[in-house]
Amino acid sequence: RKNVERITTSSHALDDLLGGGLETQSLVEAFGEFGSGKTQLGHQLAVNIQLPKEKGGLSEPDKVAQAVYIDTEGTFRPERIIQIAKGSQIDPDSALRNILFIRAYNSDHQINIVKRLPSLIHEGRNIRLLVIDSITAHFRAEYVGRSNLAERQQRLNQHLRDLLKLATVYNIAVYVTNQVMAKPEGFFAIDQQAVGGHVLAHAITYRIFMRKGKDRTRIARLIDAPHLPEREAIFRITEEGIRD
Ligand code: ATP
Ligand code: MG
Repeated sequence: RKNVERITTSSHALDDLLGGGLETQSLVEAFGEFGSGKTQLGHQLAVNIQLPKEKGGLSEPDKVAQAVYIDTEGTFRPERIIQIAKGSQIDPDSALRNILFIRAYNSDHQINIVKRLPSLIHEGRNIRLLVIDSITAHFRAEYVGRSNLAERQQRLNQHLRDLLKLATVYNIAVYVTNQVMAKPEGFFAIDQQAVGGHVLAHAITYRIFMRKGKDRTRIARLIDAPHLPEREAIFRITEEGIRD
């Protein structure tokens, strides 16, 4: 892959885990239980993409890099963007202006938004990051029961192919979230079925399993990444955003 670029997460440890930050031309999935930091990282990346290249973003002097944020759960918070922007020394108003926020109401809508993104790019928008929070929630809610599983997986598969194509053709980073439930004993099932099946596991370039650690820390574990060892990074969620 040529011209791959990287976006900082604002945590050195998390950047190192990903081999130097979130890559363009890749699909990155964060999965984990509620409150593990998946949405917070989405907000952070939507701000950080706007940083100049020498500071870990993808903006150029005459061209601000923009994010598209597809929210399926109603958890996008402009006021959180303002806090994070201040923490990253970005003007909060321009931070908000450069995030194209779209609420997806069902899986069809979500799929169609992604299909329409190339036309936005052709109109001249400098979109370098796509966030989908969460990629699976609508699919899960709409396809209940075993008999619908095959159709769900097929549609999710096509959606993922669209995303990978978008990422590679336009040199965009794609970050998606996926909630998985904690088991009663406090362990997680890193279970393919729980996270969209093999379909999701194969299309995703980087999978990060997130969980809560001691003293308000978060632990991110990299799973199945090409050329990178399976290992963990510890980060924190602060008022200013993600930090070491
Ligand atoms: P879900 O699966 O429910 O969507 P999630 O993984 O997306 O969960 P987040 O919403 O990213 O979880 O994380 C929420 C946590 O982030 C809060 O519990 C809190 O610990 C932390 N957090 C959010 N805002 C702030 C803030 N302003 N200052 C400090 N910590 C914050
Ligand atoms: Mg969330």
